[in-house]
Amino acid sequence: MTVLETRDLKKYYGAGDTLVKALDGVDLQVENGEFVAIVGTSGSGKSTLLHILGGLDRPTGGSVLVDGKDIFSLKDEELTIFRRRKIGFVFQNFNLFPQYTALQNITLAGELLAKEKPEYKANRKAIHAELEEKARALLAQMGLSERENHYPHQLSGGQQQRVAIARALALEPDILCFDEPTSALDPELTGEVLRVLRDLADQKTTMIIVTHEMSFARDVADRILFMDGGVVVEEGPAHQV
Ligand code: ADP
Ligand code: MG
Repeated sequence: MTVLETRDLKKYYGAGDTLVKALDGVDLQVENGEFVAIVGTSGSGKSTLLHILGGLDRPTGGSVLVDGKDIFSLKDEELTIFRRRKIGFVFQNFNLFPQYTALQNITLAGELLAKEKPEYKANRKAIHAELEEKARALLAQMGLSERENHYPHQLSGGQQQRVAIARALALEPDILCFDEPTSALDPELTGEVLRVLRDLADQKTTMIIVTHEMSFARDVADRILFMDGGVVVEEGPAHQV
């Protein structure tokens, strides 16, 4: 089943002499449970594509369908709600909240979502306990049980990135997007993050990853897309390309 699809997706920046065609007509389909890797040189449009797939930015033209629904037909507010529920995002620089512990970073979004519901006030404690229980299970899955009360500055880059992955998983998104998740890490720390991604792939989590880790992509991804100049120039099963 196709969970995500783009049709002639375009994103232009600037105008006239300064026009940049960051995306110039991208057609792509992602199936349920598939792991798609996007590779390409710097400036080829990878982050732009990922941000638009994740509903973080609107395209200049074309459409993104999630479960067959055109997400950019939604108003900003509806889009935000839809995106929070459906799509998880992990960034190159982790983007954890520095003032919160690992555990709090993971429970925060769930807490905010719960607060929007009328039954929250009466069940505040139970909801909080449930979110913490889930967060602890995710920390355990990431091999970080001992670190729940650590603040981001007390964690290595690899640990911070694993907390960020747990945070993205906490909302149980249908699709997880990663933008160069290991590029900010010292080489000796990339392995622990790639291992987590491999586990998620084994569990058939639907994932799209922008990465420079070619051997990882070849080993673990189902499909690799090569981007250049805002278009997909080549695409194929990971073991063939
Ligand atoms: P990649 O992630 O593959 O390195 P990007 O998607 O970040 O590439 O960028 C694609 C192109 O769009 C580049 O030429 C970049 O300079 C340009 N670009 C990206 N974001 C903006 C922006 N906010 N304003 C203007 N140009 C942008
Ligand atoms: Mg980028």
